[in-house]
Amino acid sequence: MTDVAIIGAGTAGLTAAIYARRAGRSVVIFEGEAPGGQIINTPEIDNFPGLPGVSGYEYANKLYEQAQQFGAEFVFDTVKKVSGSLEEGFRIITEYGTECEAKTIIIASGVKRREMGLAGEQEYTGRGISYCATCDGAFFKGKTAAVFGGGNTAVEDAIYLSEICKKVYIIHRRNQFRADATLVDELLANDNVETKLSYTVSAIHGDDKLTSVTLTSVEGRDEELVTDALFVAIGLIPENGVFKDLVDLDEAGYVIADETCETSTPGVFAAGDCRTKDVRQLVTAAADGATAAISASRLSQSL
Ligand code: NDP
Repeated sequence: MTDVAIIGAGTAGLTAAIYARRAGRSVVIFEGEAPGGQIINTPEIDNFPGLPGVSGYEYANKLYEQAQQFGAEFVFDTVKKVSGSLEEGFRIITEYGTECEAKTIIIASGVKRREMGLAGEQEYTGRGISYCATCDGAFFKGKTAAVFGGGNTAVEDAIYLSEICKKVYIIHRRNQFRADATLVDELLANDNVETKLSYTVSAIHGDDKLTSVTLTSVEGRDEELVTDALFVAIGLIPENGVFKDLVDLDEAGYVIADETCETSTPGVFAAGDCRTKDVRQLVTAAADGATAAISASRLSQSL
């Protein structure tokens, strides 16, 4: 039986794997997509202590390599079911049928990007609509792009696109950005960036590709914005449905856990963006990974 099974190979999960392996525990880490998590899409990380300016991709790759070097075993498949208890042990089953028995579990499932929920959103994804500026920005070199959102992701995306595109619009539903002031200042210093504050995107138009979007102001006035691309960065939502019978979730779907990372179920810990918390940052995800792994390692050793 594996000592510590970790679900999710983002910053929290990979950090947990490093700590649990260093504590001498056997570790299996499950990941349904590429390792690295959300941070892989961030062009430049300026607020992780000691690594100013590192790219999200480089950081995520280094973390993945580090977890591999310490001997964590990886299963690249989506977890479909988790059952059991501390007394009888836990059982994890993946979509393609991998089964794993574990003494303890660390849920580090992260969050996924929120979609707009508009007609045509799926149809135009990959044909003008994107959720990742660093992945797709280069397709719009010298063209016009719009970014939808007002948080750090949206503002960083708009800064990144301003270096590639001829013109960048940033559309936000409030009259002030939520993003850090330093990022907003950096954004507004660009001559080719135009803000569309107090607007939302209400409709998508195109032929075989996106051609424009309808913006609706808070007063209810519509206007058409001609653009080649729309980068959607309107926040993140948890994906914890698979754990709903295992641990308590809050109304929004986050795993209920505090700074100890302990959930309502003994032997199950939650680390990083997937749990209830105020500050969802790289550094807090890494901190959670360490906390959860130390607790899970001690517990699994005592069994
Ligand atoms: P945030 O939740 O911080 O921001 C989401 C933005 O989208 C908000 O401005 C929000 O508006 C808006 N929004 C939410 N729902 C809708 C909707 N249905 N329609 C229109 N607009 C909507 O998400 P981010 O992805 O930007 O960031 C996630 C976390 O990652 C944050 O903690 C952020 O600080 C962190 N991060 C940090 C970075 C860094 O430090 N370098 C880089 C990137 C992310 P409103 O303001 O009205 O709520």
